[in-house]
This record gives sequence, C-alpha cells and structure tokens, in this order.
Amino acid sequence: MTRYPVMETFLTIQGEGAFAGSAAFFIRLGGCDVGCSWCDVKESWEVGAHPMRDLDDLVREASSHPVRMVVITGGEPMMHDLGPLTEAFRKAGFRTHVETSGAHPLSGEWHWICFSPKKFKDPLSEYYDRAHELKVVVYNHHDLKWANTHADRVSSRCQLFLQPEWTKRAVMTPAMVAHVKEDPRWRISLQTHKYLDIP
Ligand code: SF4
Repeated sequence: MTRYPVMETFLTIQGEGAFAGSAAFFIRLGGCDVGCSWCDVKESWEVGAHPMRDLDDLVREASSHPVRMVVITGGEPMMHDLGPLTEAFRKAGFRTHVETSGAHPLSGEWHWICFSPKKFKDPLSEYYDRAHELKVVVYNHHDLKWANTHADRVSSRCQLFLQPEWTKRAVMTPAMVAHVKEDPRWRISLQTHKYLDIP
C-alpha cells in the first residue's frame, strides 16, 4: 500500500501557466525544504504535520469528478517517490501534471512538468531537459535577469512564463510587461485563481 502526506485535495481551475483556465484536481503534498521567504503555503513545509493517505483513496476521490487532469503540487512534491502515484493515475485515465522547484530528483511519468526554480535551493540539472514549462516567480527586478539564466538552459519545446509574486504584483507586473516586450520568448502568467477567489 502506497501512502503520501497530503495537506489538501481540491477540484478547481488551474490558475497559472500553460493550463490556466482548465479544470483540474489538485493534490497538495506535505513537505518542503526549499524555504522561499515569500512562500504562500508555509504550512505545507513540515511533512509530519500532514496525514498519510492511501494512493488508492486519492485516485478514488479524484475519479469521483469528471475532470481527468491531476496536478500534484506542494510543498515540494519531489521529496517523495511519485512513481507509484503517476502509474496509478495514468491507469485511471488521468493526465499527470506536477509543479516542482526541481530541488529533488525527478520521479514519476508526467504528461506535464512545470519547473519553477527558486533562488533558495538550487535545482538539479535534469529538470532543464525534462521541463514542459518554466515558471519563474518574480519578486524583485533581479529575478528577471535570473529568469533568463534558466530560460537559456531549458529545451526549445519548453514554454516560458514569468509570474509576479502576489504581494509584489503592483510593482513587478509593469516591469514584467516591459521585459516580455523586449524578450518575447516569455509570456506572463497571473495567479488567476486568486483574482477569482477560488482555491
Ligand atoms: S518551493 Fe514552493 S512550497 Fe516550497 S517554500 Fe518555495 S514556494 Fe513554498
């Protein structure tokens, strides 16, 4: 029996990145050792604070909804072996998506890897080839330069998104708009679920 520490599960609309606007079943796993100062889910960090749930139970819960896209987030989900998880969800007919900082070895078979590196813990090099989407959270002006250092390393199929950190959006969004006009490899991602006031 495979179990994972689960902070929460919820059916929602993916708010960010390439799949923004699509319904998805989210599983937020507990545990993160990256330590972003601006993290908006610090309550996820302590792995032991979250109940262990059976994988079969998670698949059953997700399957009770019509949506067939599961998004695994955290926390930092790659702190766990996600091979059994993606296998079970694929067997149940789901697209498997993950959102990761890339700070831990990649596990699982994914239809979509959203790689969101953080300055607080270096990502592993394997993510640059494997990512379908690079999403850089922009907290200050230096983050725009830092984002380009990652964009230069990902594969040509990887979609590039700049996303303002929520509390800095008033200041950083105009800077991001100017940046994208100068470097159109990038697109802007907004946390639309927060504007919609949904989970
Ligand atoms: S990687 Fe994500 S969950 Fe972990 S500290 Fe950073 S923003 Fe928070």
